[in-house]
Amino acid sequence: MQITRIKAYQADLPLHEGSYRWSGGKSVSVFDSTVVEIRTDEGVVGYGEVCPLGPFYLAAYGEGCRAGIGELAPHLIGEDPLELDKLNRLMDAAMKGHPYVKSAIDMACWDIVGKVSGLPVCTLLGGRHGDDFVLYRAISQESPEAMAGRVAGYRDEGYRRFQLKVGGDPDVDIERIHAVAEHMRPGDKLIADANTGWLMHEAARVVRGVRDVDVYIEQPCPTYEECLSIRRRTDHPFVMDEVIDGMDSLLRGHADLAMDVVNIKISKFGGITRARQARDLCVSLGIAMTIEDSWGGDIITAAIAHLAHSTPTEFLFTATDFNSYVTVSIADGAPQRVDGRMAASAAPGLGVEPKMDVLGAPVLDVR
Ligand code: MG
Repeated sequence: MQITRIKAYQADLPLHEGSYRWSGGKSVSVFDSTVVEIRTDEGVVGYGEVCPLGPFYLAAYGEGCRAGIGELAPHLIGEDPLELDKLNRLMDAAMKGHPYVKSAIDMACWDIVGKVSGLPVCTLLGGRHGDDFVLYRAISQESPEAMAGRVAGYRDEGYRRFQLKVGGDPDVDIERIHAVAEHMRPGDKLIADANTGWLMHEAARVVRGVRDVDVYIEQPCPTYEECLSIRRRTDHPFVMDEVIDGMDSLLRGHADLAMDVVNIKISKFGGITRARQARDLCVSLGIAMTIEDSWGGDIITAAIAHLAHSTPTEFLFTATDFNSYVTVSIADGAPQRVDGRMAASAAPGLGVEPKMDVLGAPVLDVR
């Protein structure tokens, strides 16, 4: 099988809540998503998606996705989309770094492998664990009272895990965590994600200020070393995210006992192939995971579902249903949240059919 044509589409994904705010005053109101379509000489077509969390979260941005895919596409015409490890090596040889650019291409090829084999990606990634899996809800940064209100509302929708966007003024963040913690019920889990927003002295004050609260602390500071320092001064369960983006950092984090949970975002690792490698390593090392992406619509939500559902249940701390955050649906067949949980599609491949009327004309077409 050969890749004969690669197209890319751009989609704007506005938010139900109007905007999403996190550390450092950063916010996004409309997400800039890119959908990749890979066509083959045998008529099988695969789809992938990549959607950065604005241009100021990881080193990634919407237009960069399209530019990078345009750069890579000529190297991939004529290659076999079923030979995924080979294809990833080829992409690495053609373009150094930029894992997010490669993510949607890799995802689309997994869709093709699934369609060719007649199997859902979930099965190809190792098998389905249980009937469904657990989701968390990210709570955009607002006043402590407003965030507590949001948690109550999302609990009514079935969520039991809540990730507060903190990383702002440490005194207000302490209030935020306390305000929400008062509303926690048995079985709920609370995560305070600072998204690199605190200096070390601020993080040290916050973890001490919420010492008696049952809360996970996620990525308090910008660097690995700063996070490790805070990790060693607190007994809260600890999550690493932004600084863990490959096997090197994962192995280093494991050796230092730097985290109890690691956040595996598909595009941060460069696609399903590399995210799966990280997932399997975490299972071998005994590290629980949040499995998600930086953001996305229906296609990314489907990919997350396949990777999350094929992760042994006890290792899946939580996952994300991004398609319920946005007002625009870009594909049919994507998994939908039910009572704070979700299941991967049983259809071959990712199990999604893009809505071409929503995606419009391609912004890139290479053959
Ligand atoms: Mg995070």
